[in-house]
Order: sequence, then C-alpha cells, then structure tokens
Amino acid sequence: MKILAISVGGAKTGNGTEVECPLCGIYGYLEVTDGKIRVSFSDAEKKRARNTLAGLYEHYHELHDMMGTVRENIAAHKDDMGDLLAPFYNYAPDYKEQ
Ligand SMILES: [Zn+2]
Repeated sequence: MKILAISVGGAKTGNGTEVECPLCGIYGYLEVTDGKIRVSFSDAEKKRARNTLAGLYEHYHELHDMMGTVRENIAAHKDDMGDLLAPFYNYAPDYKEQ
C-alpha cells in the first residue's frame, strides 16, 4: 500500500515519530533507514485503512454517530448560524508572495 500524504505530530501518543494518515486516520511510525524515510503501519492499523471494507464501515459509523451532534448544533444555532459562518464566507487568505 502506498501512502501519498502523511501528517506528523504524534497526536495519539505524543511520540515524535508517530504519523497519521490524513485520509483515514490510521497511525504509523516514521523510520529512517540508510538515509530513506519509511512509514510503517501495524497490521491492526492497516485493517482500519479507508481502502478496506472494515475501514469503510468504521468511517460510515463515525459519520453516522456524529450526525446526532451535528443536528443538535444546527438546531441550537439555527438563528445565529449565518453570523457564525460569516467569517468563513468572507475568508480572504492573507498570502503574500515572498
Ligand atoms: Zn489512509
């Protein structure tokens, strides 16, 4: 399996060599061997990957479970949702060429 992008931060364990796949959230570790970076994922984490049936079910249930919270937040903020989202509608990145 090829991992195209990774995020580094040790979010799960605080270990500085830990990485998390930004697509499916599986955790692995960076290693440097003979000057080459290698990412290794345990078999348990590989089974959670989004390109597996188990990973798809995990993601489906994650979204399904989250919908209750989303509905509650939308109901609680139905009157001020526009104000809350205004900064995003008007987002203008402050990017400057160097
Ligand atoms: Zn992934």
